[in-house]
Amino acid sequence: SSTLVSEMLEEVADRFSFQLQQRKIQIMLHVEYGVTSLLLDRDKIDQVLDNLVSNAIKYTGDEGTIRLEARKIDKEILEISVQDNGMGIPKKDLSRIFDRFYRVDKARSRNMGGTGLGLSIAREIVKAHGGTIALESELGQGTRVLFTLPIRQEEEGEV
Ligand code: ATP
Ligand code: MG
Repeated sequence: SSTLVSEMLEEVADRFSFQLQQRKIQIMLHVEYGVTSLLLDRDKIDQVLDNLVSNAIKYTGDEGTIRLEARKIDKEILEISVQDNGMGIPKKDLSRIFDRFYRVDKARSRNMGGTGLGLSIAREIVKAHGGTIALESELGQGTRVLFTLPIRQEEEGEV
């Protein structure tokens, strides 16, 4: 069945509301006009969103801001992005960030929990959906992760 994109994003924010409140992190949702629903494996895409939002929370200081956005790139492609204004990632680490078990450095990660698998799993899931995932980051400024999903058109004349 198809998933309403705005509802899916609201529900991710809800799942993290306790942590967000504790850390005084604001989450902003922006769904572009015309983005409605989509056929997708909801459990899998929730897994992607949960990882990206949990990363954004982990690596953003108190009182930071996270922006969740959905927009259409064109008629066939939806782009979802998770942006934070946290600590960012050094340039030298960017090429390995989607590798299994890769974490930027032990010092920053020590108290953060996790295994370094989240982004590699997210990439597998997005690929399996026929999409792509990319990460942009500026050290000390923040990070943005974007992934695309194909908008499957209803097939005409389907029996
Ligand atoms: P897990 O997801 O398995 O709980 P993790 O969050 O450390 O562990 P990934 O989600 O794969 O693993 O992320 C890999 C590494 O990339 C992180 O350890 C962190 O160093 C860096 N990273 C990921 N997202 C961000 C972000 N939003 N801001 C800064 N660094 C990030
Ligand atoms: Mg993670």
